[in-house]
Amino acid sequence: MAIYAHPDDADVAAGGVLAQWALEGCAVHLVVVCDGSKGSHVPQVDVRSLREVRREELQLASDVLGVTTIECLNHVDGAVTNDEALRATLVGLIRQHRPEVVVGPDPTATFFGGVYVNHRDHRETGWALLDAVAPAAAMPLYFPEKGEAHQVSQLLLSGTHEPDVVIDVSRTIDTKVKAVLAHASQIAGDAEGIRDVVYGRAEQAGRPVGLGFGEAFRSVELSF
Ligand SMILES: [Zn+2]
Repeated sequence: MAIYAHPDDADVAAGGVLAQWALEGCAVHLVVVCDGSKGSHVPQVDVRSLREVRREELQLASDVLGVTTIECLNHVDGAVTNDEALRATLVGLIRQHRPEVVVGPDPTATFFGGVYVNHRDHRETGWALLDAVAPAAAMPLYFPEKGEAHQVSQLLLSGTHEPDVVIDVSRTIDTKVKAVLAHASQIAGDAEGIRDVVYGRAEQAGRPVGLGFGEAFRSVELSF
């Protein structure tokens, strides 16, 4: 199960891994917390149509990756908070789909390279998924109305400053490129440039462990 804030986040952060798992026959469940309705630098943009466009792009990208189910929670961009209601919803989805692995954003990463502040929606979503996975979903007295408790075996957190696992995405790097390109409303520049960026990042992630293309995560293995 992948839990991300915006419609394009999962593809950019973990599209290679999700496509690889789908290829191997795993069920891949994607949860998108926000509606993507503020994902534009154009002040005159029609928010309703932007939301619809992003929903369509999400479907296209998910079809490319081979995602099994998509759940859109439709929080307005910028308004998501790690509150009890969001945790209850995530616990319900985790208990329904019972994933072995949950993939999502590392909320502890705030600044990147002195040039980027991690989006608040990514951080709030990251904290909410951590709290939902460990311990809430695994303990029956949390949200007992949300189904039978389920222990997720592993968390893989992307966008992290402390990666300790690199997964080989050499077979699915082109699928990832296609999925990222499906989010046309979010892309500035041409397809070739996007492809170069996706390839470059995957080469950079894979190089330290001798892989052609990789995606890097902070891994947390959970047990009772
Ligand atoms: Zn995002």
